[in-house]
Amino acid sequence: MSSATRRPLVVTIVGNRPQFVKAAAVSRRLREHLDEFLVHTGQHYDRELSDVFFEELDLPTPDLRLKAGGGSNLEQLARMLPPLEALLRERRPALVLVYGDTNTTLAGALAARAAGVPTAHVEAGMRSFDRTMPEETNRVLTDHVSDLLLCPTETAVANLAREGIEHGVHLVGDVMADVLLAGAEVAERRSRALEERQLEPGGYLLVTAHRAGNVDDHQRLLRLVELIEALPLTTLLPLHPRTRQRLLASDLFERLERAPHVRIEKPLGYLDFVRLLRNACAVVTDSGGVQKEAYLLATPCITLRDRTEWVETVESGWNVLVDLDRDRALAALARTPPPHRPELFGGGRAGERVCQVVCTYTGAQ
Ligand code: UDP
Repeated sequence: MSSATRRPLVVTIVGNRPQFVKAAAVSRRLREHLDEFLVHTGQHYDRELSDVFFEELDLPTPDLRLKAGGGSNLEQLARMLPPLEALLRERRPALVLVYGDTNTTLAGALAARAAGVPTAHVEAGMRSFDRTMPEETNRVLTDHVSDLLLCPTETAVANLAREGIEHGVHLVGDVMADVLLAGAEVAERRSRALEERQLEPGGYLLVTAHRAGNVDDHQRLLRLVELIEALPLTTLLPLHPRTRQRLLASDLFERLERAPHVRIEKPLGYLDFVRLLRNACAVVTDSGGVQKEAYLLATPCITLRDRTEWVETVESGWNVLVDLDRDRALAALARTPPPHRPELFGGGRAGERVCQVVCTYTGAQ
C-alpha cells in the first residue's frame, strides 16, 4: 500500500465502565476512516462492569487486554504504564485517545507523552475543584499533557482557558449523551427490567454510590447507609463491587439487607440501567455519568457530593447537591423539578465531532 493510501493508526485506551460507554460513541465511527487499536487496561474486569458493555453497546473486541485492576490508584498506574509505553513505542500511532478521569485515562496520557505520541482527551476541561477526589487529579494532569482537548461543555472550555490551555481545544459535546440518546428507546423496547422486578414507572428510587470519598471512610459509609435507610420509596441499589466490599467489611451490608424497602442488586447492564433510570421517581447518586444521564432522561437527580463537574445540571434545577446529608436528600426528593430542561451536552452529535477533529489532526480521509 502506498503511503498516500495508508490509514493513520489511533490507539484508544479504555479500562472501566463509563469509558466503555463513551468509546461506544466513537470507536466504530472512527474505524470508518482510520485504523484503531483498542486497549482494555483491565481496571474493571468483572463481567457486570466490563463484558456486558462490549456486548450491549457493540464495542469492538479489545486488541490488547492488560490486567491492571485491583490495588491502589498508584499500583494500578504502575502496572499500566510500562506495557502502554512499550506498545506506543512499538506501534507509533498518530494519536492516543483517552476518555474521562480514571487511572486508565492518566496512564494512557502519561505513556503517550513518554513515547512521544500526541494525546486526545475526550471529556477534557471538567473540574469539580475538589482536589481530594482522585478523579480531579487525573483530569487536571491528563489535560495538561494532552494535545487535543475535546470538551463536553462551554464550562469545560472556560476551565481550560483559566489554566492557560487554549490551543487544541474543541467544544464537541458529550459522547455519553450520544449513547444515551440513541440507547434510551432501545432500552425501553428491549429491557424487561421493570417487569422482572414488578416495578411501576415513578414508583421507586434508583441509588448508585461508589466514589472513594463516600465509601472508603467508615463514618461516611455509615451516613450513606443511614440516608438510604431513610428513603421513602422502594429503593433499587445496584451495588458497585467497591461499595459491596466496603459494606461487607463491616456490619453495614446486613443492615441494608434488613431495610424492607431496599433491594440490593449486582451492577446492571447498560440497557436495564437506562430503562430503570428513565422510569425512576428520582435517582440518588455520586456518579458523574449518571447525573447527566438523569438530566437527559428528565429524571430528577440527588447527588451525594458537595460539588460537581456537571454544574449545568444543578443550575437548571434538575440536580441537587446534598453530600451525605439525609435531611437535605429528603427535602430534595420532595421538590418538583422545573418545567424547562434546556438542551445540554451536544444533542447526540459529540461522537461525530470527535471523529472530525481526530481525522483532521491525523490526516485521515
Ligand atoms: N451504569 C450501568 N449500570 C449500573 C450503574 C451505572 O450501566 O448499574 C452506567 C451508567 O448508565 C453510566 C455509567 O455506567 O453510563 C456510569 O458509570 P459510573 O457511575 O461507574 O462512572 P462515573 O460516571 O461516576 O465515572
